[in-house]
Amino acid sequence: MPYRAPVSEFRFVLDQVVGMDQVAATELFAEATPETVEAILSEAGKLCETVLAPLNRAGDLTPAKLENGVVRTSPGFAEGYRAITEGGWVGMAASPEHGGMGLPMSLTTAVNEMIGSACLSLQLNPLMTQGQIEALEHHASDAIKELYIPKLISGEWCGTMNLTEAGAGSDVGALRTKAERNGDGTYAVTGQKIFITWGDNDFAGNICHLVLARLPDGAPGTRGISLFMVPKFIPDESGNPGKRNSLGVVSLEHKLGLHGSPTAVMQYDGATGWLIGEEHKGMAAMFTMMNNARLGVGMQGVAIAEAAFQHALTYATDRKQGKTPLGATAIVDHADVRRMLGQMKAETFAARAIALACAVAIDMGRATGSADWQARAALLTPIAKAYGTDMGNEVAYLGVQVHGGMGFIEETGAAQFSRDARVTSIYEGTNGIQAMDLVGRKMMDGGAAAYRLLQEIEDHASEARATLPDLAGDVWAAAEALREATEWLVAQEANDRNAGAVPYLRAFARVLGGHYHLKAALADASRQPLAAFAIKRLMPEHSALIAQMREGAAGLYALTPEALAS
Ligand SMILES: Cc1cc2nc3c(=O)[nH]c(=O)nc-3n(C[C@H](O)[C@H](O)[C@H](O)COP(=O)(O)OP(=O)(O)OC[C@H]3O[C@@H](n4cnc5c(N)ncnc54)[C@H](O)[C@@H]3O)c2cc1C
Repeated sequence: MPYRAPVSEFRFVLDQVVGMDQVAATELFAEATPETVEAILSEAGKLCETVLAPLNRAGDLTPAKLENGVVRTSPGFAEGYRAITEGGWVGMAASPEHGGMGLPMSLTTAVNEMIGSACLSLQLNPLMTQGQIEALEHHASDAIKELYIPKLISGEWCGTMNLTEAGAGSDVGALRTKAERNGDGTYAVTGQKIFITWGDNDFAGNICHLVLARLPDGAPGTRGISLFMVPKFIPDESGNPGKRNSLGVVSLEHKLGLHGSPTAVMQYDGATGWLIGEEHKGMAAMFTMMNNARLGVGMQGVAIAEAAFQHALTYATDRKQGKTPLGATAIVDHADVRRMLGQMKAETFAARAIALACAVAIDMGRATGSADWQARAALLTPIAKAYGTDMGNEVAYLGVQVHGGMGFIEETGAAQFSRDARVTSIYEGTNGIQAMDLVGRKMMDGGAAAYRLLQEIEDHASEARATLPDLAGDVWAAAEALREATEWLVAQEANDRNAGAVPYLRAFARVLGGHYHLKAALADASRQPLAAFAIKRLMPEHSALIAQMREGAAGLYALTPEALAS
């Protein structure tokens, strides 16, 4: 079933729901006029529908493979990559100083969703590069910026991020990769990294690895880590790929999904690297890349959800089975199938709105320097990542269910969405780690950023009472319940917060979802049925989630390993 880029939906969410007009009103993003946004979304949409979507199945059936130390990518991926780079889509948000388009993150995030819906395993490649460009823009020396960023933007070279090791996953601070000063300003990096997305390919002139490693005098834990640029080919005096660096791909993983994306074990043997940022301050630099990637991965969840929904709706409209109360025979008219499709659409809308609201906050933080906008972006990032990817999984799961037995058969493509979505809740910081970030670092302000957002939701709901009293009343009450839950949360000690982190994050997303659906229903009356579905059937879950959150840690630890095993 062909993918249809939801261009008008993006326009609606950006214009009517998440306040993109504020971004376009800033001096920095003055070029992002409605006409430019429309033109960019339409152009990217065409590429996704015609060039990238047809690659998705090929990537699944013919995974990337390692041949004599070189990664051979899936059929058509090189051409697909070239089309992405020729369109300038890698450097959309990058600074014009180095050849980027300087467009807002809100627009880049929308385009990334479409590329991810079309072919998620290929989209991971430019996503990693985009994160690397941002990290270099903020933390690299001028010489590194001038050499690397233009080539990354043009797509001539690709970027990767290397954090994970066998003994250092969620606990990055446990890493053992070493770096030593060579005495000439460069460093020798030695160690093994695992699970490195697009660790190599056969279509870029160079692969630029950003690698976390510890110098001999680096303190234990995350405080003693430094970040290095370690290219596959060491640039020569003219900046062209020169001598081969001492690094390589040891093996590629056999994965549940995302077969077109090579996930590599990388070995560094005294490989030459250049410091990014300051010694021992690598985590700060890597966080720039990770925050970018967290929003990007959240949008990957939305991307899968949109594609899975389109598939399921088409199938449900064609498939005839039994008699329905509406007299017709297509399964879309069975109440339970309608419920599943309604849930898929409502969740996709909410997850997209949350991710785009986060992107708008990033843009506003950059354009105005406002600490409040920056805090809003920081607060929304873990929610956008965790809820977006959980919804990618749940919507893809429902997509299989709508297909019945055919959902379990690979030809329909419904199963691939489910397999591809699974890892999005795991990589880029598991969703449990995202939730702990929300209740920990993001509440270090005592909940101030959360309260500001909840106040806006309540104010909007109060205004909306005049038009949609029932729905607005529910949203107001849910926001108030979340405010009380937040007051309780910030008064708890760390492990009690952590024990309730996942339900709290989901409750927050439920309230945000209700809010954005209410906004949509006010802007366009034809959206009221979907808003009512979300507010009456999905949002009430927040009460049960808050009750779970309030249970704290003690009850969890009462489930001893012995009790679990008995
Ligand atoms: C396909 C794929 C691509 C990837 N790409 C990259 C990449 O490009 N670069 C890169 O560096 N890494 C990459 N990763 C690694 C990925 O980011 C890690 O797998 C992820 O961060 C989790 O680490 P882990 O696998 O070691 O799991 P663990 O850290 O062992 O976690 C196992 C479980 O324990 C939980 N847990 C762990 N610590 C805590 C804690 N403190 N509190 C509560 N719960 C906890 C986790 O939430 C999880 O449920 C990739 C992984 C995959 C599978």
